This record gives sequence, structure tokens and C-alpha cells, in this order.
Amino acid sequence: MARIGFIGLGNMGGPMAANLVKAGHTVKGYDLSEASAARFAEIGGTVVGSAGEAAADVDAVVSMLPEGAHVIAVYTGPGGVIERAAPGTLFIDSSTIHVEAARQVAAAAAKAGMAMVDAPVSGGTGGAAAGTLTFMVGGADEAFERARPILECMGKTIVHAGGAGNGQAAKICNNMILGISMIAVSEAFALADKLGLDHQKLFDIASKSSGQCWSLTTYCPVPGPVPTSPANRGYAPGFTAAMMLKDLKLAQDVAGAAGAVTPLGAEAAQLYRLYVQGGHAGVDFSGIVRMLQGA
Ligand code: NAD
Repeated sequence: MARIGFIGLGNMGGPMAANLVKAGHTVKGYDLSEASAARFAEIGGTVVGSAGEAAADVDAVVSMLPEGAHVIAVYTGPGGVIERAAPGTLFIDSSTIHVEAARQVAAAAAKAGMAMVDAPVSGGTGGAAAGTLTFMVGGADEAFERARPILECMGKTIVHAGGAGNGQAAKICNNMILGISMIAVSEAFALADKLGLDHQKLFDIASKSSGQCWSLTTYCPVPGPVPTSPANRGYAPGFTAAMMLKDLKLAQDVAGAAGAVTPLGAEAAQLYRLYVQGGHAGVDFSGIVRMLQGA
């Protein structure tokens, strides 16, 4: 069993760290928020007072932080992870961040003699709690093989996507598909409303036709057809519109720099920006159907 430092014990990191504890690892956790840290203590984790402390005397560090700036600060800042970790410690960052930020931190880690992978996830808070996340991993082969047994305690599907930053590349490509497909499904329900077509009827037909997709059949944005979707609980998240906007912006940012043509990705980012600016940052991202319905 490994000694692990876990940094960022929020909606995702909390249950992920809990699964590492359940698997028998010795886990030290750190979060700026006292409430998150207290929840971690309740499930048998050891709470420490700084990111550097979490990184000292462990075999591996896992981080699950909001954005790239947090990851850069926590790893490369004074008294941070790179400074405090013993040589050879494995770093696993599972936050969704800019591809270039991931590459920057991985290079700083390599310079200090540490192995690092970016390992963002898909599967949401439900997947984090159930230990069924999908991990998309960027980094050297050896680092991936070292990370795998740790990731297997938190996820079901672990894919090596290539070198440093390629986990993040896979994540933003996936979430660009998700943002665009959620808008497509939402527009179809809004059009059905105008044409007098019942939501359940559209669902029964499209879910068995060529319009079938995850945004329709697993995460249906209107109440009724999929009882577990956020639409049935007033669009309580789940995955917030602010996070979807963050990921779409990350995709647009790298698409521009790489010269990729992503017109629907750009439009999806624009629509989510409008939705978030309308006061819906903390609402589940499937709630965008309400804006498209003109509600
Ligand atoms: P969250 O806001 O619930 O948790 C982030 C935690 O990091 C918070 O508890 C915060 O206090 C802590 N934190 C911030 N700065 C810190 C610092 N300097 N040191 C220590 N702790 C710090 O967010 P989340 O939903 O857990 O998301 C985390 C990451 O996972 C994000 O990058 C997000 O895009 C990604 N993600 C989220 C979901 C989801 O469904 N929520 C799904 C896939 C990926």
C-alpha cells in the first residue's frame, strides 16, 4: 500500500480521496476549505495544514484543483509540492486545466527529478463516489505504469493518451463534444415544444434513432424521460454550467493556437457564456435547455 498526499478535497477530490483510503492506502489530505478537510477527516483521512506538507514523505501526490493557476501555484510555488516532495515522488494531477499549463508543471517536475502525469477525469461526482471514473492520462510510459494502480482505486477505465498534456487534450475534446451535443439535444426539445411534439415521444424515437447520444439518453435535459438526470431535480449539479464554460474556453484557446477549425465549439462556448452571465453559473449545464426554450 502506498503513502499518498491528496490536494483538493472538493466535490470530486473528496470522494476520490475516500476511495484511496478505502483501498487501504495511507492518505494525507489538504484543502483550503475547512469544511472539505473536515469531511475528509470523517472518513478516516489525515488532514494536514499545507500542500507542501501533503507532498512530504509520500510515494505519490494526487491533486484535484479548480484551475491551472491553482495547479501551478500548488506545485511550483514556494514551499509547494515540488519543493517539499522527496526525489522520485510520483505526481498525478487530475484537475481539468489548460494543456500548456499541464505541460509547464510536468516540465518543472521533471527538472526536479519527479515523474508526473496529467490524469483528468470524466464521470462526474457520481463516478467519483462510485470509483468508476474514466482517467485520460498524459505522461511517460513509466509514469503511467506507476500511476495505474492508484488510478484503479478511483476509476474503471484508465487510458494512456500519450505524452505530457495529452490527458488534458483528450478531456477538452471530449467535453467539447458534450457541450455541443447538449445544446443540440436541448434545441431539439425546444423545437419539439413549438411543433406540439411531446418530450417523451421525441425521447422514445430519438433514443432509438440516429439522434441517440449520451446527452439524450443518460443526461436528458428535460424532466421525465431519464429519471436520474438533473432536469428532475431542478437542475441541481452534477456538472455546473460554469465548469462547462471553463472547459469550452480551454478548448477554444488551444484550438486557436493550434489552428484547428471548431466553429460549433466556438458557438457552444458563446451560448454557455450567455447562460452563465444570466446568473446560472452554479446550475447544472443541462439547464441550458431552459434558455433555449425561452424560459
Ligand atoms: P470543487 O470546487 O468542488 O473542489 C476544488 C477544491 O480545491 C475546493 O475544495 C477548494 O477549496 C480546493 N482548493 C482550491 N485551491 C486550493 C489550494 N491552493 N490548495 C488546496 N486546495 C485548494 O471542484 P470539483 O468539482 O471537485 O472540480 C475539481 C476539478 O475537477 C476541476 O478542474 C473540474 O473541472 C474537474 N472536474 C469536475 C467534474 C464535476 O462533475 N464536478 C467532473 C470532471 C472534472
